[in-house]
Amino acid sequence: MSKNNSTDSFPDERTEPPLAQQPVKDSSPGPLPSSMQLTSDGKLKHFLTIEGLPPLLLEEILDRAEQFVSLPNKAKVQAPLLRGKTVMNLFFENSTRTRTTFELAAKRLSADLVNLDIRNSATTKGESLLDTIRNLEAMGCDMFVVRHSSSSAAHFIARYCAPHISVINAGDGRHAHPTQAMLDMLTIRQFKGRDFTPLKVAIIGDIKHSRVARSQIHALTTLCAGEIRLIGPQTLMPEGIEKMGVTSYTNIEKGLDDIDVIITLRLQHERMDSAMLPSIREFYARYGLTQERLELAKEDAIVMHPGPANRGVEIDSRVADGPQSVILQQVTNGIAVRMAVMSMVMSSQAATRVES
Ligand code: ASP
Repeated sequence: MSKNNSTDSFPDERTEPPLAQQPVKDSSPGPLPSSMQLTSDGKLKHFLTIEGLPPLLLEEILDRAEQFVSLPNKAKVQAPLLRGKTVMNLFFENSTRTRTTFELAAKRLSADLVNLDIRNSATTKGESLLDTIRNLEAMGCDMFVVRHSSSSAAHFIARYCAPHISVINAGDGRHAHPTQAMLDMLTIRQFKGRDFTPLKVAIIGDIKHSRVARSQIHALTTLCAGEIRLIGPQTLMPEGIEKMGVTSYTNIEKGLDDIDVIITLRLQHERMDSAMLPSIREFYARYGLTQERLELAKEDAIVMHPGPANRGVEIDSRVADGPQSVILQQVTNGIAVRMAVMSMVMSSQAATRVES
């Protein structure tokens, strides 16, 4: 039986035990009404998922991020768009790149930043998530950046927090990781140009448990990518995934033919039933991105990975460190994309306040 045999709905705080004590809920909360993350005039208020967002809004995030990328280093610390705002990083799950780049982004926008130490917070003493949120609101928080093992945790906080607060999803269960997907789109745009229509993109590995893959598919389809191929064993392929406008391949050699962009993914052991995977060695033998396999793609194909990468499992070191790898560029772009999203949600909040 799967570890994550869960329902779609998030627990009701009034009737259920505190969130921190809930078993992992790990399926999609389903499509959101756009009013959940957009203001009445279509501005970004929360950033919870890419699903359902208009292409123009994704372009706006990318354009704004590009401006931040091109700022000289000195100016990066002087963009005061979030001066006087308090951002709280709520990471209930481990993170290196995402948490650090959100932190750098907030600081470069001149925000006050608090990294809440969840392991030592009162949620571990039985306080409900909602009570924790209320207390943090009382300290004058303007934005929550949330990572949680439960799909829809960020939606839940967005639904119940005070109206002046924005919530950014920094990865929820296997559901969504929208800022990761946007930094990936920025990286693709930098190397392949603004027009996604001619691009063939392959995503390899554990698609089933990957929130990154889901958000990437939504972003790529919204930006009209020419073709999206998912490559991996049948056991790691979500049922009915073709409905998302993708093609799945169990044969990596066929799947990589003529590809422009290759995205490799980590095996999400923490969300996986061991029976889904024969063995690491066999996975690498059948799906590891080696130099020989890379040569089946276009000559100028780029290689991406959201990190953390496991060398010798999903990717060979020669490829990860090779000339076609843009993995570190993705990390750098994470700061600019997060600056873009944070500044957009705060300016939509300011506009709403002026109107009301
Ligand atoms: N860092 C990404 C995430 O949080 C990918 C991974 O963990 O494999 O989803």
